[in-house]
Amino acid sequence: MRIDLHTHSNVSDGTEDPAVLIVSAAAAGLDAVALTDHDSTAGWDGAAAAAAEQGMIFVPGMEVSCSTDTGISVHVLSYLHDPAHPGLRAEIEKSRTARLTRARRMVELMGEDFPITWDIVQQHVSDGATVGRPHIADALITLGIVSTRSEAFERVLTARSPYWVSHYAPHPARAVALIRDAGGVPVFAHPSAFNRGAVVGGAVIEEMIDAGLLGLEVEHRDNPEVARVELRRLAHRHGLLVTGSSDYHGSGKPNLLGENLTSPETFEALVSLATGTHVG
Ligand code: AMP
Ligand code: FE
Ligand code: FE
Ligand code: ZN
Repeated sequence: MRIDLHTHSNVSDGTEDPAVLIVSAAAAGLDAVALTDHDSTAGWDGAAAAAAEQGMIFVPGMEVSCSTDTGISVHVLSYLHDPAHPGLRAEIEKSRTARLTRARRMVELMGEDFPITWDIVQQHVSDGATVGRPHIADALITLGIVSTRSEAFERVLTARSPYWVSHYAPHPARAVALIRDAGGVPVFAHPSAFNRGAVVGGAVIEEMIDAGLLGLEVEHRDNPEVARVELRRLAHRHGLLVTGSSDYHGSGKPNLLGENLTSPETFEALVSLATGTHVG
């Protein structure tokens, strides 16, 4: 079994429609795939229908944007939670709204130096999608200012840039608790992604574990090998699941479907821990 538990569609910042992503996953030889769009479950139905057609196992998921008291960004993957859970829904809605306000402000600031407008950015956001810096990056590509999303992040969109604006997001321990309350399985996404900025230390991870964290996404291209050794040790010590995933974003990132996988044993354990919804 080839299992990839972290992908994005155009419901957030991936480039493929959820159904197209499932076809791509089948073509990549995957047997099971999770759709984990940023702060949205809007792609679940389309992906589930496509997976049924392809004879693939579909795992409903979501990647929750979080922030610590000191402003460090943390992503928590949620698998198989109840999408109707009022507490989780309210929290997600709040941060989606904050993201929109923040993106508009960033574009306003950038407008002083580049011919970028909110209208141009919006042309790159699918209906109802969670807005993020990748969409601003796409607008910069259209304008010929950069040639790839990666270049846009390095040159214009980093947290160190003058256009950077922060946005509200729940504390990771709060997100973990809400996901558990919604019957989901919370997994800390790419915990050691130093390439994206500061990462949290042991104290925050302990808080997340105390709140009910169930897994660490160890096998992910953004975790350096030395950090993975420590993460595996931590997982072992606390009885946490160890997952592996691609974090595929279509053509929006170089990550390839199936480049990291989760073992069938771990997948089975993960599914058995969930009570919020079913695998499709
Ligand atoms: P935001 O949520 O607006 O803060 O933007 C963060 C998102 O941008 C992440 O979830 C990634 O999918 C994407 N991202 C971060 N760094 C890069 C990069 N270097 N190249 C392309 N996409 C990136
Ligand atoms: Fe993303
Ligand atoms: Fe992430
Ligand atoms: Zn992701």
